[in-house]
Amino acid sequence: MDPALAALGEFGLIGVIRRRVQQRSPGTILGIGDDAAILAPVPEGALLATTDMMLEGVHFQRRWGRPGDLGRKALAVNLSDIAAMGGSPRYALLGLAIPPEGVTLEELEALLAGMEEEAANSGVTLVGGDTCASRSGLVLAVTLLGTLPAGRALLRSGAKPGDALWVTGTLGGAAAGLLALELGLRPGAAWPPAVLRPAWLGGEEEAAIRAAMTAHLTPVPRLAAGRALVGCATAGIDVSDGVASDVGHLCAESRIAARILARQVPIHPGALAMARLLDRKALDLALRGGEDYELLFTAAVDPRPILADAAPDLPVTRIGEMHAGEPIARLVHADGDEVTLTGGFDHLRGAA
Ligand code: ADP
Ligand code: MG
Repeated sequence: MDPALAALGEFGLIGVIRRRVQQRSPGTILGIGDDAAILAPVPEGALLATTDMMLEGVHFQRRWGRPGDLGRKALAVNLSDIAAMGGSPRYALLGLAIPPEGVTLEELEALLAGMEEEAANSGVTLVGGDTCASRSGLVLAVTLLGTLPAGRALLRSGAKPGDALWVTGTLGGAAAGLLALELGLRPGAAWPPAVLRPAWLGGEEEAAIRAAMTAHLTPVPRLAAGRALVGCATAGIDVSDGVASDVGHLCAESRIAARILARQVPIHPGALAMARLLDRKALDLALRGGEDYELLFTAAVDPRPILADAAPDLPVTRIGEMHAGEPIARLVHADGDEVTLTGGFDHLRGAA
């Protein structure tokens, strides 16, 4: 264990966390320090609760990015779930398991600073958590509470035949970024000599690959878009496991079919570059890669005017439609060829 951490001990570290945390939610009656936090009943009506874990070796490698980015992402992936419900995030709890070797107090402070920055951007207060030693890697388990006017949630189950299927942003960036990191590329470092660089890969392609690494390391939760879509979208989900898998959830919960047009799918430029570099299909990265944390939603009306207002810099693309039928998604290729869309990531089965 890092000597500075060992000297502090569990309660010393909790003290460090407590001193760093800023109060942002007026409903926090009592934050870190007692056996449990005390939160005022929410005037909005309904509480949202979600949790997402990040495990070293499963979700991330510590050498890939800065500790601050890790803290950011641990909160951001939870914010994305609140965004997908159309809610507003409020309170977070942090389960922290620290491995015996390799993690320093300095790194933990940077991690917490990153998380606090993400919390500040989204109006969240860290009100508690748990701290223990891990036998293997670093674990960050964030629980997030949000609020929503009762009966106004954006559910997976509301899609109707005839609705269009839309997605925010671009897809495949996070998957391409992960491939780049696995190859040995790093956001802040020059192209490593050990990684073959073909002649076609110019400055533009390299910038796209760097943007993909950023998309993987620090996803941006679509909170403003999610809130704006309440009352406009009929159903919604965030793209965490890949569109192929996540559209399947929309179909299953809404009990209808989806058709996605391959040529409409907005592919991240970094996914195009990485696919070419590794001789893979960019569309595959876009549909099966996962971790893009974009919003996939259905709507009977054009959502663009509302989103242009709420999230002016966020592109939104119509990629298909919903129709009556067996609850599966079909992918229509440019040549008219049609296949059932399968795959995406399943933690117990792996990538399909
Ligand atoms: P208990 O033993 O009663 O569970 P702890 O010693 O685990 O209490 O925690 C003491 C206080 O510190 C609690 O308010 C808890 O929520 C908070 N806390 C512990 N670990 C963390 C953490 N990693 N992040 C934020 N708050 C924490
Ligand atoms: Mg505890």
